[in-house]
Amino acid sequence: MPPTYRNYIDGKWIPSTSCHVIRDLNPADFRDCLGEFPESGPDEISQAVRAAHRAFASWRRVPAPARGEFVARWGELIARDEEALARLITMENGKTLQESKSEVKEAFDFARFMSAQARLIEGSTFPSQHERRLLMTLRQPVGVTALITPWNFPILIPCWKLFPALICGNTVILKPAEECPLAAHRLVELAAEAGLAPGVVNLIHGSGEGTGRTLVKHPGVALVSFTGSTETGRRIAQECALSLKRHVLELGGKNAQIVLADADLTEAVEGAVVGAYKTTGQRCTATSRIIVEQTVAGSFSERFLERTKQIRVGNGLDANVDMGPLVSESRRKRVHAYVEAGRREGAHLLLGGYFYESEPLAQGAFYPPTVFDSVKPGMAIAREEIFGPVICLMEAEDLEAALLDLNNNPYGLSASVYTSNMHTALEAVERIEAGLVYINSPTTGSELHMPFGGVKATGDGHREAGRYGLNIFSEWKSAYINYGRRVSRVELQTPA
Ligand code: ADP
Repeated sequence: MPPTYRNYIDGKWIPSTSCHVIRDLNPADFRDCLGEFPESGPDEISQAVRAAHRAFASWRRVPAPARGEFVARWGELIARDEEALARLITMENGKTLQESKSEVKEAFDFARFMSAQARLIEGSTFPSQHERRLLMTLRQPVGVTALITPWNFPILIPCWKLFPALICGNTVILKPAEECPLAAHRLVELAAEAGLAPGVVNLIHGSGEGTGRTLVKHPGVALVSFTGSTETGRRIAQECALSLKRHVLELGGKNAQIVLADADLTEAVEGAVVGAYKTTGQRCTATSRIIVEQTVAGSFSERFLERTKQIRVGNGLDANVDMGPLVSESRRKRVHAYVEAGRREGAHLLLGGYFYESEPLAQGAFYPPTVFDSVKPGMAIAREEIFGPVICLMEAEDLEAALLDLNNNPYGLSASVYTSNMHTALEAVERIEAGLVYINSPTTGSELHMPFGGVKATGDGHREAGRYGLNIFSEWKSAYINYGRRVSRVELQTPA
């Protein structure tokens, strides 16, 4: 029997009253169930919100550097358990062990970074237009925050939200993705071990439409921070708009790599392989379209296909494997439906596009690296986020045409350009409509101290990571401090 897991509310592991459970399956082998998690209902959510409210009253008064020390201790425990956490991510999500290790490493690096930021939660002072008056701004916590996270980085994305939320003085309720709840469970176990006060971090399991939606609607939640699909993000935004609840959305991408005729083709091919197939194409920054200048399109395509054929697909725990399974059977069906749509719309399938029929790959959500060419910008496979190892090869006459194709898309997260010409590179940096632009490197590979996020349908203009998370998780307060004698007249002279 797989173990049954509980919610974490007010510093205690509490069994759910719900009789619905969600089975957490290993995507490399569906026979392996890692645990059963509750589909939490409104009562449990209210209990967590109440606990977070009670804790907020004291947590917001803990000096920020002390909140940072707690994050640092939590980070050290994540570092201590690096191996075990990485294995767990691979078993639950499917990505290779090496990728899981990088994910865990980034999580504890971010804890170190954020714990130092806790001493730098600064405001500003401004000169007043009146005598003997001090103007200053200070950051204040927002309150109880709901963190709704996806399955593609089941440790790192919760940390991206948890650490800045906590150092700013908020309390949180984490609702992790139902595909990877065990990683969140372990993460919160480590928070408890680090000595977290009850109610500061709460963990609620359940589906998006059920538990997630109820949490978003709860009037006691002041801020919703969400990472996931654009479709779900729209729904959350609508829900939050009704009560004017603050929300922050980090959504999909349809990232393109441009390869120009003057590029180093070996580098461009290697970059494309990394961008396309790492995490089985399930990063929001994964490369999905490759737009190649016509004169080198034939040679690029030939070399890219050659490298793609070398990708070894299998269980991510196996050191010889380059690409693990997709996260779930439903994801695999969804990716395959896009491949079928691509065929119907007249794109030319060069590689992949099938289900494995023999053991051991038939037992999991494995999908082969898949490459199309003759892809036209209007096709569904060129416009929509597939979130799988599926690449659309496209051709463009020159930089202008390539930029037009790249920008002609609803999303704007990440983009990359391979060229040896500095002028072209800078022109592209300026004109690409995306939050992240890479020159001579893949569309993936952001660093934790840089702002992360996108434009257009990728989000609502916020940036995570780096110091920018502080803007999400704090409110500005403007303070006017009079220290002269006849100060009460001051307010009569200003309009607002
Ligand atoms: P994906 O399509 O990649 O699985 P989703 O955007 O559906 O991504 O899910 C990301 C997170 O959002 C998960 O934790 C999921 O449970 C949650 N979620 C899904 N639908 C809703 C919703 N309507 N309200 C709140 N959370 C949701």
